[in-house]
Amino acid sequence: MNLSTAIRKGAEQHPQCFLSLINYRLDEMLSKFVIRETCALGAAIVGTYGSDLKEVDALQLSMGKSHPLVEMYPILDVSTNCPQRECAFKENDTTVRYLITHLNDYHHWTREKIADWIEALEQ
Ligand SMILES: [Zn+2]
Repeated sequence: MNLSTAIRKGAEQHPQCFLSLINYRLDEMLSKFVIRETCALGAAIVGTYGSDLKEVDALQLSMGKSHPLVEMYPILDVSTNCPQRECAFKENDTTVRYLITHLNDYHHWTREKIADWIEALEQ
């Protein structure tokens, strides 16, 4: 599976959120926390590993160069430019991993649109 497919797959399962990776809610019937919403990177994690993730697991997967998500999708470490036209936001970190969060939180791109952008990079 490639990264764009994982984001689309994860996005089908929960609504989008902003400024956090994954939001959880308490499911009273199951007496446990379940995923309520995901950002684009959270959707990639859910699309890859499934919905039965604890918060700490999801956070670990999202961070660090040697973490499993980056090993699985090396494109996350590729440096590129923000695809939003006339983006005024200049950052030192321009990796795909950073820009996924930036497009989600700053430009409010849908996860499907972010997946389309990544798919073009994957070609
Ligand atoms: Zn931007």
